[in-house]
Amino acid sequence: MRILVVEDEPMLRDGIVDLLTGAGHEVEAVADGMSAVEKGRAESFDLVLLDLMLPRLGGIEVCRRLRTARPGLPILMLTARGAEDDKVAGLRAGADDYVTKPFGVRELLARIDALARRVAAAPAEPEVIEEDGCRFDLGRCVATRNGESIHLTAREVGVLRWLYRHRNRGVTRAELLEQVWGTLGTLQTRTVDMTIAKLRQKIERDPSNPRIIVTVTGVGYAWSEASD
Ligand code: CA
Repeated sequence: MRILVVEDEPMLRDGIVDLLTGAGHEVEAVADGMSAVEKGRAESFDLVLLDLMLPRLGGIEVCRRLRTARPGLPILMLTARGAEDDKVAGLRAGADDYVTKPFGVRELLARIDALARRVAAAPAEPEVIEEDGCRFDLGRCVATRNGESIHLTAREVGVLRWLYRHRNRGVTRAELLEQVWGTLGTLQTRTVDMTIAKLRQKIERDPSNPRIIVTVTGVGYAWSEASD
C-alpha cells in the first residue's frame, strides 16, 4: 500500500516510517497539517495515518479536508491515551478508525490491514477521465490529447479533481483556493485564474473557447457544460 504518515514528532515519525516500509509499504511522511492536506490532495494514497496534535493545522481539520477532497481515502488517526473527546471529534470529522498512543508495532500493522480490507470493497474515485477528446490520468498527473502526453502539476490535478467531482455545479474561486490550495480568503483569487488559464493552454482544444473548464459568470468555473 501507499501510505501517508502525518506525525510531527520526528522520532515517532521515523519509527513509523521504518516499520511500515519494513512491512512492505511505500511510505511518504509529512510533519504538519498543511503539508498533509496538500500532499493528500495532490497525490494518490491507499491510507493516511494521521496524528491529531499537529502544527499549522490540527488533525481534525486535516481529516475534514482530506475527507472532502478524497471521499474514499481511509484515515487512521493516532490519538493520545484517554483523550475520548479527540476520538469522537476525529470520527465525526470522518476518520475510519483510531489507534491510541503508545501503540504496539503489531497492533498498528493489524489496524492498517483491517482498515485496508474494510475499504477495499468500496468503489474508488475515478483516476482516468475523458472529456472533449482529452484523456486525464489524474493518478499519474498526465493528460493525453491526439496521442501527445501533457504533464500536469499536482495543483492542476487538484483543480481538475475538484471541478470534476462537483461537475453538476459551478465552483467559486474561493472554494478552489480553500480546497486545492488549502488557503482561506478571497484575496488571492487571481492565483486561481492564472492556474486555470495555464491549464487551459495545456488541455483545451482551443484555449480561447474552453470546453473542459468553462467559466460560469458570477460564480467561477465549472467542469464542461456538456456534462450532466
Ligand atoms: Ca503530535
